[in-house]
Amino acid sequence: MTVVTGQRTPVRWDYAPAPESRGAASLRDRYDLFVGGAFVAPSDGTVVTTTNPATEEPLAEVGFAGPADVARAVDAARAAQPAWQALAPLERGKVLFRIARLIQERARELAVVETLDGGKPIKESRDFDVPAAAAHFFSYAGWADKLGHALGGREWRPRGVVGQIVPWNFPLLMAAWKLAPALATGNTAVLKPAETTPLTALLLAEICQEAGVPDGVVNIVPGAGDTGAALVRSGVDKVAFTGSTAVGKEIQRTLAGTGTGLTLELGGKSANIVFEDAAIDQSVEGIVNGIFFNQGHVCCAGSRLLVQESVAEEVTRKLWDRMQRLRVGDPMDKNTDVGAINSAEQLERIRALVEVGEAEGATRRSVACELPERGYWFTPTVFLDVAPASRIAVEEIFGPVVTVTTFRTVAEAIERANNSAYGLAAGVWTDTGAKAFEVAAQLRAGVVWQNTYNRFDPTAAFGGYKESGFGREGGPSGLLPYVVV
Ligand code: NAD
Ligand code: MN
Repeated sequence: MTVVTGQRTPVRWDYAPAPESRGAASLRDRYDLFVGGAFVAPSDGTVVTTTNPATEEPLAEVGFAGPADVARAVDAARAAQPAWQALAPLERGKVLFRIARLIQERARELAVVETLDGGKPIKESRDFDVPAAAAHFFSYAGWADKLGHALGGREWRPRGVVGQIVPWNFPLLMAAWKLAPALATGNTAVLKPAETTPLTALLLAEICQEAGVPDGVVNIVPGAGDTGAALVRSGVDKVAFTGSTAVGKEIQRTLAGTGTGLTLELGGKSANIVFEDAAIDQSVEGIVNGIFFNQGHVCCAGSRLLVQESVAEEVTRKLWDRMQRLRVGDPMDKNTDVGAINSAEQLERIRALVEVGEAEGATRRSVACELPERGYWFTPTVFLDVAPASRIAVEEIFGPVVTVTTFRTVAEAIERANNSAYGLAAGVWTDTGAKAFEVAAQLRAGVVWQNTYNRFDPTAAFGGYKESGFGREGGPSGLLPYVVV
């Protein structure tokens, strides 16, 4: 039973509905595996319906790959690899460039499908996911014939065939993060999208066909965890995984001692630190963006808010005011700020941990608002009076839930921020440049944002410390896991 507190501030002139047109995407009834340059039915006939989490309506049937299909995809990638590696680097770059251009050409359709399949607000898929996916291919297209510079002039060769497993929170963008550097360096790939969000990866397969990606260079094998596990065991030369820490650890155990390359981008419980000299209103915007972007389904979400005691009252009051103005609901409405939770399972995980937080004695405030009758929803929530060692302050919730704890000194802020099993990202809010750099240098986190949050750029490295994983994606460092030097 969800406890909903607070009253949404009455809005004198409310927004009129501004729905994006569903017609911008013409979904087929059925999608198949993309193997060896063609769409093929799964050999054991497994077909799963992907649904819209905002309405619970079925969207399309998707063939799921079994171990035999995964083996077939790896064979196709293996057969295609030598010619792809031998292609003139400038020509490989052109192929990536064409993928980027086609993503731009089909941007509206991709954004609509991403929102329908996964529940994220259309304004995010339109303004963030799709442009960022294109930007990634553009950026790595440019590296393809400059790898000598990126790799410091060293001798190098591609890994060979890479297996890539992506989650459901940024389905197209994570596919781009994985494929672009792999292809630029002459590898061929077998990519497994997440079970709840396979559609944009399959549209990307169509784009690969159109862009002239040689058959077998990119293979897409939709499926659930067992398909991912089969890919890990398929004899690929490198595995790149983004998802939960638990599955990441399992993959690491499976591959230990095999010589297979591995990078893991796992969970987080990132600290967003607000000092008393920060611009408070801007900080509040950054806190909101840090935790409510994509319903908080973000590995680097600023889920642990650390506020200096002297401004804690002001920050939490303004945060609560701002939260009540967030528009929660139909992800296809261009005004929506917070869309649907990705799946019934994820909603259950969020609810369970939020109940733990209440039982632990923290004060919960969840925004009250009308929600659609069907679909999976969780309104923006803040926990006050949180004990630093409590489960909600330590475990990743992966939903629109932020915990607030306070600190008194800079040293205490750093110590608290670093007191985590994770180390993916952090935010530092202060008007003192020296303090921002001093704190950032001491934070054990892969990315530290100063006076901003959740900024991504294809030229910047992203990745974790500790249980947030290892290896970097983005920029020249993102090429390293895909080569043997
Ligand atoms: P998950 O780790 O189970 O799924 C991520 C991907 O891994 C999916 O494609 C899935 O099919 C695949 N997978 C699952 N089991 C596998 C296995 N044994 N071998 C190989 N691949 C496998 O994540 P989830 O169950 O969807 O979500 C659980 C929690 O994970 C979330 O609550 C969140 O805390 C975390 N998560 C983190 C990220 C991230 O971006 N770091 C993304 C999704 C989920
Ligand atoms: Mn779906």
